[in-house]
Amino acid sequence: MVAELPPAPMVPVAPSFLLAVADGMGGHAGGDVAANLAVETLRDTVIGSGEADAALLLKQAFRKANEAIYGRSEAVGGEPMGTTLTAAILRGKYATIASVGDSRAYLLRARGMTQITKDHSLVAEQVANGTLKPEAARSSPQRNILTQALGMKAKLDTRLPGIFELTLLPGDRLLLCTDGFYDVLQDRDFADVMLANPPASAAARLVDIARERGTTDNVSAVVAEATPTRVTTPRVAPPTRQGLPMVAIAVIVLVVLIVLVAIAFFALNS
Ligand code: CA
Repeated sequence: MVAELPPAPMVPVAPSFLLAVADGMGGHAGGDVAANLAVETLRDTVIGSGEADAALLLKQAFRKANEAIYGRSEAVGGEPMGTTLTAAILRGKYATIASVGDSRAYLLRARGMTQITKDHSLVAEQVANGTLKPEAARSSPQRNILTQALGMKAKLDTRLPGIFELTLLPGDRLLLCTDGFYDVLQDRDFADVMLANPPASAAARLVDIARERGTTDNVSAVVAEATPTRVTTPRVAPPTRQGLPMVAIAVIVLVVLIVLVAIAFFALNS
């Protein structure tokens, strides 16, 4: 999702943007419902909020989204549903990013890619505690198991969402993407594609390459570039989802390996 936020009154600053990707999981239509609820709640919370603190807004939005999804699950007989959510508020040169799950934000700066967010996944925990080598995480059969997602518990863990704040430099590019890319693209591939393509087409190109390389997962990405002006103004490309037309404001919903991920997730948490 990409949404241009209304300017704060009387403050002549660069435009603000809200970016997000959500990757739903759950049986039947549960994944779609959860991801839609997350993005709608995020948008409703952030748009029209004026100059409220971005990190605080994102924390509120993630809590509300968690409760909305959990409530919907209860309303349909306890059918489990959940979603990742990675979102960024861009205000001038300042980016505030929040994440739950394993959709990621990357920063491309000076030709180097840096993963900004931390995955809430079993393999990320194993890498962090030294029981799994980073290179083995990419091929681990457990790589799709999440340790946190929105909608799985009545209340979101108080440590969530992870919040990351950046000051963008002219030329920086911010990528939000779902985990469907990770099996088939390395950090270098992300960087090469983003350097070789303008932001308006970089996300689409990433999706094409992931499909060409046979990803077994749906893939979704959005790319923003900080352009040099008197104030640093993010220029945001429409989000790209495979097979769908790009629109300026779009809800990105992915239902990815729904059954496998759901079973793995619930097995872990039961
Ligand atoms: Ca996925």
